[in-house]
Parts: sequence; structure tokens; C-alpha cells
Amino acid sequence: MKGSNPFADSLLSYSKKRGLTLLFRFVEWLFFSTLTLKVKTMTPVQAVNLIGGLSKPSKMPCKGYSIPAWRCITGAKMREVKGSICAVCYALKGNYLWSNVKNALEKRFASLSNPLWTKAMIIAIAHYEKSGYFRFHDSGDVQSVEHLENLCEIADSLPQIKFWLPTREYAFVRSYLKKHGDFPPNLTVRLSGLMMDGKAPVSLANKLGLVVSSASESGFDCPASKQGHKCLDCRACWDKNVFDVTYKKG
Ligand code: SF4
Repeated sequence: MKGSNPFADSLLSYSKKRGLTLLFRFVEWLFFSTLTLKVKTMTPVQAVNLIGGLSKPSKMPCKGYSIPAWRCITGAKMREVKGSICAVCYALKGNYLWSNVKNALEKRFASLSNPLWTKAMIIAIAHYEKSGYFRFHDSGDVQSVEHLENLCEIADSLPQIKFWLPTREYAFVRSYLKKHGDFPPNLTVRLSGLMMDGKAPVSLANKLGLVVSSASESGFDCPASKQGHKCLDCRACWDKNVFDVTYKKG
């Protein structure tokens, strides 16, 4: 009977592992090379198709990006709270509920997990946004710290554009700042208030060095309702020197 050879066994096991490692490395290299090539050759039209389109909020001086408000994480909890801003969210009624709009928003939401999403957003915004401003999330909110990191990468890559991100996902913001220290200088992160008559999250914003917005009557009064529901020349939301922007109730 043949006896087993421990040296030969361990050599065989090592080569199998080494072989698998090499195979894994090759697949990894192939994956990232293909991604790099796709990014290098991506046209603005392909980029827009990948992200499911940019939005054009009628009030804003620029394009924006929206995902479904029914996917908001904190918003889903707040919608159940009487008197909260989310309970009367404009993005959960009217044309946002039309099936074609709903499908388009869901397509955008699904594209967030595409590994090419961030690069596609950069290509689309660089090509189609000429005003120098951009608004993240005219509906919907940040989904994770990784999502927030992607938004920051977009802002970092387009320093000629001022970005505004309103958010109620305070925990993701805190985690991001703990990990990275600061937001890109051209990105204004505004912590949005939760209740119609409640104050903006002032203490947290002060602690994190951020700005806020609310529906109370404490801050800079958004003039849009007095000028045809348009921003016109106002850019207060993008301005880090305007600490608290207050929107009209309702
Ligand atoms: S405060 Fe100014 S920039 Fe912000 S929404 Fe109102 S009009 Fe537009």
C-alpha cells in the first residue's frame, strides 16, 4: 500500500491555493481594466443612461439629481410622525406618483449600486451642467456612508461647480466626517430639520461645522415664494456663510 507523503501533500495544497490566488488576481485585474476602459470611453449620453437621467427642478437655477423619496431611510420613519416635514413631503404626492416618474426614479435608485455610477455622474454633470451649480437630491436622501463618499468624489472631481446636499441622514454625515475629516470645499452639506415647527439641528451643525435648513421661522427666509417659486439670483442654499435657510411651510 502506498503511504502518503506529507511534503508532497503540502506542496500540492500550496500550489492549489497559489493557483487560486493567481486566478483571483487575474479576474480582479480583468474586472478593473474593463471598468477603466468603460469609463474612458463613456459618452455623456451613455453616462446619463447609466444614472437614469439628471433632474431639472423648476425652481432651481441648475440641474439636480433625484431618487425616490419613498426610499429615504430617516424619512420613512419621520413620515409616520404627525407634524414632521416628511409627513407632508412634496416628493410623495402629485406627479411623483405617476407610474412613468416612479419607474424613472426607481431606475435611478437601482443604478446607485453600479460600480460606474460615480464616474457616470461626473461625466454627465460636467457635460450638461453649465450654470456652475448643482443640487443633489431634490427628492430622496443619502443611503449610506459609501453613497455620501461617492457624492463627495463627484464634488471633488468638479471643483468648478458648487454642490448643495440637503440631508436628514445625520448619522451618515457624522460617520463620514469621522472617517474623512471634512467635506469638499465646493459641497455645502445642509442638515435639514425634522419638524414643521421644530428648530433646525443647530447644535449638531455647529459641532460638525455645517449649516442647516428648516421650516421654522428662525433663519434666512427663502424668497422663492415671492418670486414665482424660482430661485432667480438667490444662491443662499449653496452658501456656507448662510447658516440657516428657512423654507415656506406647507
Ligand atoms: S433660499 Fe434661495 S437658493 Fe435656496 S431654495 Fe430659496 S430661493 Fe433657492
